[in-house]
Amino acid sequence: MFIFNYILGGFMSFAESNKESQLFECPFCGVVALTIKELEHTVPYFNEVLLVWHCSNCGYRHVDIFPLKLGEPKRIILKISSPRDLYAKVIRSKNGVIRIPELGVIIEPGPASSGFITNVEGVIERVIENFKRMLVLYDYDEKDFEDVMHKLLLAKNGKLFFTLILEDPTGMSAIIPAHDKQEIITEKINVNDVKNNYIT
Ligand SMILES: [Zn+2]
Repeated sequence: MFIFNYILGGFMSFAESNKESQLFECPFCGVVALTIKELEHTVPYFNEVLLVWHCSNCGYRHVDIFPLKLGEPKRIILKISSPRDLYAKVIRSKNGVIRIPELGVIIEPGPASSGFITNVEGVIERVIENFKRMLVLYDYDEKDFEDVMHKLLLAKNGKLFFTLILEDPTGMSAIIPAHDKQEIITEKINVNDVKNNYIT
């Protein structure tokens, strides 16, 4: 990509932001040792930032381009309408709330939650795992929840279209679409909206 050529060639300068760093669960080794740093372009009117991931445990490194600055309260709405859309990356900070209205799913941050990075398929897998655990914990009859499980499995396999909404009052969450054509909307939000709706 052209942006990396610029970096390698040293034609443009980048400033590292001083935002407080948060540790995420590494998608490779599973240890909560991954930091995401934001490199901000210093050329005006260039509305993209680079997100540099680094895991201090396994050494994993990765760079992504993201359209908005981290740290601004935001809502990201991502459409999943084909199997390849499931590979969009989801970076959920410890304050991010994920909703999938079509599946009745809300993932709220727990009291001791850390952020996680996965793809959309991974989010659905987490939901399925938690759902199974809940059935056992409350001794529910699996048969009563067959429809829900069926829908979740269809979604995981890209056979059910849905919308993933990620809201973060701290703005440290992000979604990187799987490809250029994937529908994604990022909106600035009022912090109180998120609090009133989901975190009380
Ligand atoms: Zn790692």
